[in-house]
Amino acid sequence: MNGHYPFENPPLPYAYDALEPYIDTLTMRLHHDRHLQAYVDNLNKALKGYPAYHGWTLERLLTGADSLPAGIRTAVLNNAGGVYNHVFFFDGMSGRESRRQAGALYGAVVRDFGSAEKFLEEFKNAALGVFGSGYAWLTADKNGRLGIIKLPNQDTPLASGLCPVAAIDVWEHAYYLKHYNERAKYIDDWFAAADWERANEEYEKCLAGAGKPDG
Ligand code: MN
Repeated sequence: MNGHYPFENPPLPYAYDALEPYIDTLTMRLHHDRHLQAYVDNLNKALKGYPAYHGWTLERLLTGADSLPAGIRTAVLNNAGGVYNHVFFFDGMSGRESRRQAGALYGAVVRDFGSAEKFLEEFKNAALGVFGSGYAWLTADKNGRLGIIKLPNQDTPLASGLCPVAAIDVWEHAYYLKHYNERAKYIDDWFAAADWERANEEYEKCLAGAGKPDG
């Protein structure tokens, strides 16, 4: 995302039903059109009276929150995080056949986790282990080394200087309509829709030091 105030809700990069049968159409509609839209609206509302920040990108708002006025800092962090995380999450899934082609990321996964299977197991455990609402992230540090982190609510890896590679939203709104309370089944379905070709693109951006996940 290179945008700044007023932020907009970017359309999904695929049809609402593109992730069937793994992620259902109604969930995608509500998740994108209502949940993400609410974060966009609330971010704009928080920033409306503060023109000094109308040129700031999402990334700048998320990494420079310390310099925001105290009265809007929390609202901006939560809602900018909600926008950033959802766009990243939606962009990280697809129905395209090539989504299993992880390219250079595959080698890095084997290097840092031992095997692809080991990585998937660790990532699933992290996603299961998010208490309440949040995300599990695959991230790269400044040396390109991969790691898995759990973050609550709409916190982002950017705030801790990590470069995002892949993310799963485990808020219940991401799966409740189809999977009810069975987060493990949702995670398995997310694995089937996850776009590792796109994650590899993000990883290569991390290596290049660009750190602009949705540029
Ligand atoms: Mn969500």
